[in-house]
Amino acid sequence: MTNLVIKKPLSTYLPVAGSESNFPVRRVYCIGRNYAEHAREMGHDPDRDPPFFFQKNPDNIVLDGFFKYPTMSSDVHHEVEMIVALKSGGSSISVSSANQHIFGYGIGFDMTRRDLQHQAKKMGRPWEVGKAFEQSAPCSELHPIEKTGVIEKGKISLHVNGEIRQNADLSDMIWSVPEMISILSEYFELAAGDIILTGTPAGVGAVRPGDNMKAYIERLGEFVVMVH
Ligand code: MN
Repeated sequence: MTNLVIKKPLSTYLPVAGSESNFPVRRVYCIGRNYAEHAREMGHDPDRDPPFFFQKNPDNIVLDGFFKYPTMSSDVHHEVEMIVALKSGGSSISVSSANQHIFGYGIGFDMTRRDLQHQAKKMGRPWEVGKAFEQSAPCSELHPIEKTGVIEKGKISLHVNGEIRQNADLSDMIWSVPEMISILSEYFELAAGDIILTGTPAGVGAVRPGDNMKAYIERLGEFVVMVH
């Protein structure tokens, strides 16, 4: 047994739907601007430039359905996204074999301190302060691919306090899930335990403490998160 000089930091596990089992999270990758209408609302051309990626920390994940409004921002935005969880990985994964690495799917929020992200973009600085902060990744349980089948299309939506904010189809993604796994695996060595937040549709906007965010993805169901 290794002697630790501090207490072992907590690991993050996503529950697996319909079971007592859990999925241990190694890394959290996110893709930027993966829906054309969202790219436009952020002031960019939605052309098929190579995709870009950023990361959140596994310990930014929250599972209890609550999102604590963070410090240092007065413009915190919701971004609803489908989660893809990997059961295996590697480098230079082909598009045609990428789906074999998927364990399952879930619903996630890429909560964003938009004011800090804008400032970072403007100054050519990294995005961590805008993206990788405490509780910035509320995640649902995972649904194994054996139960859902490969998910390439289907409705994705978000209501805030009962009002529709984001509403699109997963097939509107600029880079498909197999394509993003393949491209990510050129930049990084992917492994079991990695999850990917696959981008958000148009309609992102600010939330306030007290707001109720209700996400929905066809075949995955609903995931409700309260802002406090
Ligand atoms: Mn996002």
